[in-house]
Amino acid sequence: MSTGQLRADWLLASPGQSPEQQGARLAWQDGRLVELAAAAPDGRGLIVLPGLCNAHDHARAVRASALGAFDRPLESWLMYLGVIPGVDAYLTAASSLARSALRGAGRVMVHYTRIQGLLPLVEEAGQVARAARDVGVQVGFAVAMRDRQNIAYADDAAVLASLPPGLRAQLEPRFAKAPASPAMQLALVDEIAAACHGPGFNVQYGPTGVQWCSDALLRAIARASADTGQQVHMHLLETRYQREWADREFPQGIVAYLRDIGLLSPRLTLAHCTWARPEELALIAESGARIAVNTGSNLGIRSGIAPVAQMLAAGCRVAMGLDGLALDEDDDALRELRLLHHLHKGWGYETAMSHAQAWRVASEQGRHAISGIETEATLAPGARADLLVLDGRALMDDRLFEDVPVLDFVLARATAGHIHQVAVEGRTLVHQGRVLGVDYPALMRELMSSLRAALPGDEVWRAAVRALNGELAKHHTHCC
Ligand SMILES: [Zn+2]
Repeated sequence: MSTGQLRADWLLASPGQSPEQQGARLAWQDGRLVELAAAAPDGRGLIVLPGLCNAHDHARAVRASALGAFDRPLESWLMYLGVIPGVDAYLTAASSLARSALRGAGRVMVHYTRIQGLLPLVEEAGQVARAARDVGVQVGFAVAMRDRQNIAYADDAAVLASLPPGLRAQLEPRFAKAPASPAMQLALVDEIAAACHGPGFNVQYGPTGVQWCSDALLRAIARASADTGQQVHMHLLETRYQREWADREFPQGIVAYLRDIGLLSPRLTLAHCTWARPEELALIAESGARIAVNTGSNLGIRSGIAPVAQMLAAGCRVAMGLDGLALDEDDDALRELRLLHHLHKGWGYETAMSHAQAWRVASEQGRHAISGIETEATLAPGARADLLVLDGRALMDDRLFEDVPVLDFVLARATAGHIHQVAVEGRTLVHQGRVLGVDYPALMRELMSSLRAALPGDEVWRAAVRALNGELAKHHTHCC
């Protein structure tokens, strides 16, 4: 149902940019706003704002600490993702996407790096698309592509040779399979796009990162994206060890390399850029590519603090991602926005990120990365009805002065617990703490019982991953 209406006590059509309007009536048809009129506040205390986006995520089954991976750096943490078995792709995607919607994001980028593997990938992607339709979130779906360096940032054979023999014997079979050729990987993306691409499900190329993709694969993706116009979503410079590797491999600069092979374009979104340098940010800004920053994730898995103020100052288009690792591992988009704003707003009297900029990072910029929408997220007649509606009475229960901006309260203290409604293109996904399209608590129960039933009877692989953790620490720190 993409037609509806709403009365609100406050309308923040362009938060931090245009004046807040007290008392408003909104109406939408076929997913577009058709009316925003002044109206007397009805006393329910609702606040309407442009909807939030999660511009980088992976729609994972369970969150980091449940894997036993709490506080591990990314390089070890990635290995822990393998300790849980593949289960039903619909169940996994639907529960993850429902949690994203419930916690405020109506558009979600799914970089599909964790394949469940129980079905051919084209069918599995179809299950994710069905989950997105049922939940009602608009999804960008980047098909993971990679063909090298599965264990660390060096050839697998060299890393395996450096490991104790027992551990090597356990790991070797896992990484023995030769990767598919660039042509085969592109053909698979084409096949998935033919089956699933459409309104609400934007299929993209998803090279996992330069350290995981050969030059031939990245060049093939750059050519295909230029030919088809399909977007590209890729990690870049997430950790200090990736930075060191990039500096060794690309003396001319890793971003300059991406430019030279034609990958750096307005179609590209780069997740993280935590360790990007000013000259690299200038190139990214010039190209029109976007950066999806993931503040909670960067803290949780020890990646660092991204230079967001420098990104904005350089003119980069910056979007907010949650990466499945928001501060409380709960996918709360509002708290993630708070963390992002507080860390990067500037110190003392200097302002590096205004309130308006913070909101655009969390709202507007993600819409392109995810759904390819270039227009502003401002709520106005003709705009998409992407709405976040908050319970202002709970949020501002100690409000004393009428002239204190409502946005101050939102940025200072709003969490998913204050969400009254989330609507995307006029469809209400969440209302009063409940996801309407699916039964989220039931999905979680089913997912957890499937996972428990599918866990291997032995602890062999978990033990190997724990042992590998120590070896990877030595490898990356060049220490004994
Ligand atoms: Zn990621």
